[in-house]
Amino acid sequence: MKNEKGSLVRPDALPESASRPVVTPLSPSVVYASDTPDMLDRQYDGDLKGYTYAREGHPNADVVAKRIDRLEGAPQMGVVTSSGMGAVSAVLLGLTRAGDHVIGGNQLYGRSLRMMTEDLPRLGIETTLVDPGDTEAMRTALRRETRMIVIEVASNPTLRVADLEGLAALCREAGVLLVVDNTFTTPRAIRPFDWGADIVIHSLTKLLAGHSDVTLGYVAARDATLNDRLRVFTVTAGMTPSPFDCWLAERGLLSFELRFDRAQATAAELADALAEFPGVRRVIYPGRPDHPDHTRAKTLLAGQFCNMVSFELTGDRTVANAFTRAAEGLSFAPTLGDVGTTISHPASSSHRALSPEKRAELSMSEGFFRVSVGLEDPEALCAVFQNAITAATHS
Ligand SMILES: *Cc1c(COP(=O)(O)O)cnc(C)c1O
Repeated sequence: MKNEKGSLVRPDALPESASRPVVTPLSPSVVYASDTPDMLDRQYDGDLKGYTYAREGHPNADVVAKRIDRLEGAPQMGVVTSSGMGAVSAVLLGLTRAGDHVIGGNQLYGRSLRMMTEDLPRLGIETTLVDPGDTEAMRTALRRETRMIVIEVASNPTLRVADLEGLAALCREAGVLLVVDNTFTTPRAIRPFDWGADIVIHSLTKLLAGHSDVTLGYVAARDATLNDRLRVFTVTAGMTPSPFDCWLAERGLLSFELRFDRAQATAAELADALAEFPGVRRVIYPGRPDHPDHTRAKTLLAGQFCNMVSFELTGDRTVANAFTRAAEGLSFAPTLGDVGTTISHPASSSHRALSPEKRAELSMSEGFFRVSVGLEDPEALCAVFQNAITAATHS
């Protein structure tokens, strides 16, 4: 006999089970049904927890947010966004108004720099870029209208370390927000909230999710009101993350600490090996005593020097081409934090818009490469680099 309810399109309930799944269920539902208008009222008022519409929030995003909150020591639940740039945009666009002034680190992620130099000025927000290792220069750049200072702990791709302690003191004194993009360093190396940051940003696309199969971001503010404003802005601007991406990111986060530790240990080995290879002009790794910010890195990062290594080959574009061609099994790709080692070449990617003179100022020649170390066997990885460098510099 056909049950009348059975002919309705949506089933009433999930199949019955007294036991619960161990893995977070994937919840792609856009809408959530409430029992009554009274109940919906209470949900909107916030005295009853309940999802309503996925752009406003969904379980898979909240599970990921809480996991990162714990890693970062965030005082309240952060916001997961559809990309790292979504998180950057939420801060730069959602917390400023025309007439404000924003200071940024002069070696921020390329798209963040673009937003600082192209988009904010168009909206009447003036910006200044300053070396985040130079707190006195930051102080000089402050104005009455300065709303925030936005930095990354380690610069891209030269891996200079910001003076986080000095900047936090400066921001506190000046009543300016300190915003830290912690993508490169991750909460395994540093928790910016512990050092006085007001807002922490991540591209989950990189190390936290870690498998190059999702594009997601995260942002959390120390202050509850600011945190709410960020959430409301991301909802209004449509920066909602996909439930499936969040589900994958949660899976990636389960192994984040193990992956980070392994990649970091290999990075230290690779950096030391590279320094011995003929054809390598210099190696940049904050864990090496020859790094200009080694002492600061030791204090700030508590012995964690992360998985990023940069180095410079002697030679021109021909040598660079020969190197990537010979580096078998390594992806020449402009990303970082993947399980596999990736190499990027700033002169042809992130820094291609700069003139050769400007790149020279940053000591970023055609032979300059940035390596995001993955989970390969360290010895095998060093051998691949050695062979590729020998092939490139002897041809
Ligand atoms: C990749 C990256 C971003 C942007 O993240 P997406 O997820 O690619 O949008 C922001 N900041 C840093 C430091 C990054 O490396």
